[in-house]
Amino acid sequence: MLICTVRGCGQALLCDGRGMVCARGHSFDISRAGYINLLQPQDRRSKKPGDTAAAVQARRRLHDRGVTQALLQAIATMLAPRSSDVVLDAGCGDGFYLASLAAGAGFDAHGVDISTPAIDAAARRYPGCEWVVANADRFVPYADESFSTVLSITARMNAPEFRRVLRTDGKLLVAIPAPDDLIELRGRGRDRADRTMETFASAFTLVGRQRATTEDGQLGADR
Ligand SMILES: [Zn+2]
Repeated sequence: MLICTVRGCGQALLCDGRGMVCARGHSFDISRAGYINLLQPQDRRSKKPGDTAAAVQARRRLHDRGVTQALLQAIATMLAPRSSDVVLDAGCGDGFYLASLAAGAGFDAHGVDISTPAIDAAARRYPGCEWVVANADRFVPYADESFSTVLSITARMNAPEFRRVLRTDGKLLVAIPAPDDLIELRGRGRDRADRTMETFASAFTLVGRQRATTEDGQLGADR
């Protein structure tokens, strides 16, 4: 399913025992934690793109304290995943949503993120899923129609690429922060719902939308 990220290549990547290699001989190691790093030099605007290790740990504390549970539940209800699904989480961060959903439904789970610390944490904590470091903003490193479901959970959105890697009858679930998301920490944000639906309107048909809300009285106090 994975394809080579070397510029202009795009050949299928196959496992050669030690790592992944394409027909043109481009090769990628599998890390000790079990993930594959497909990031190319042109994918890095900074030396360490994406979430830092500290940001990954901070996000984990939010998960551990249940702040993200309402969103997870809403996604699980809306998606109703089946064991036969093949799911990509684009911009999966530390893998919490994807791995929690996969643990419940038993589907084939694939997570991509540009942050190596985030994917490293995901691979160590959730070894049952496949984890890849790549820049999904440039392209999603999977063959056409690889997935029955694509998730973008408070992450970047690449509508043409999501469409390409989804089967014709595939489903896309996009979660975006509401204007009052983490309002205790960062104040009121913009309402991005209309713009998000516009982004996907040419390639997808909207079948439903829903708002998930929860409150943690401690959040503001922790500042
Ligand atoms: Zn290649």
